[in-house]
Amino acid sequence: MTKKTYIVGNWKMYCSPSEASLLVNRLKKEVGRVPADVEVVLCPPAVDLTTVRQELSEHDKFSLGVQNAYPMDEGAFTGEVSVAMVADLVHFVLCGHSERRHTFHERDGLIAQKVAATRRHGLTPILCVGETRHERESGHAKQVVADQLETGLSLLTPEEMGDVIIAYEPVWAIGSGESAKPGDAREMFEYIRKSLGALHGSALANAVPLLYGGSVNASNAASYLKLQDCQGLLVGGASTNYKSFASIIEKAAA
Ligand code: PEP
Repeated sequence: MTKKTYIVGNWKMYCSPSEASLLVNRLKKEVGRVPADVEVVLCPPAVDLTTVRQELSEHDKFSLGVQNAYPMDEGAFTGEVSVAMVADLVHFVLCGHSERRHTFHERDGLIAQKVAATRRHGLTPILCVGETRHERESGHAKQVVADQLETGLSLLTPEEMGDVIIAYEPVWAIGSGESAKPGDAREMFEYIRKSLGALHGSALANAVPLLYGGSVNASNAASYLKLQDCQGLLVGGASTNYKSFASIIEKAAA
């Protein structure tokens, strides 16, 4: 079976609903045919989801994801949006994005609950893992990633593990313009597979799609996509520009 390539656009906290509507319409026009083995996932801010969903009705080029969601279905959690609430709108949930970990101090335990709630609602979690510059320079990058993987996936049943995506996003590469060397990304992908194999068995480890994220743009996208273990990209800044995102999608479709 041909493996899918995922191109995920994280719009971060950009775009009001009207701006989101404009961006998605420009993307629909700019992006040519998307082959069946490429899945393009748009992750706008939660407030835009309904608008973007409407813009995408009768349109099969893009799927929808949410950047973050709370694991409890409902309750006194002011300001949060639950996985249950977005389950009708999206197919994917970003869990443990580095901006959630570092700006909002989310810990692995909460991220594990988000991953579990996502699977419980039949959606696909994209678990983001990655080391800070200090952790890399002090030789701890692999251990940090292994710990994030182990705890992040710890609440899933073996069946639920069958539908999970992992995004390797070194924190120092996110939004910095300094992307990881493809060779370093390849080494981390191999390590992630090895760690997943030790935790969940090699069949499952080999089946989990691994994405790279961190200052991906139209010029460097292909250098990651050609890595044997890389099944796609998580794109932040460049996904909010319809021309650059369309050109990244083109690389995956080539
Ligand atoms: C991201 O937001 O996940 C990301 C990788 O951002 P950027 O592409 O801007 O580095």
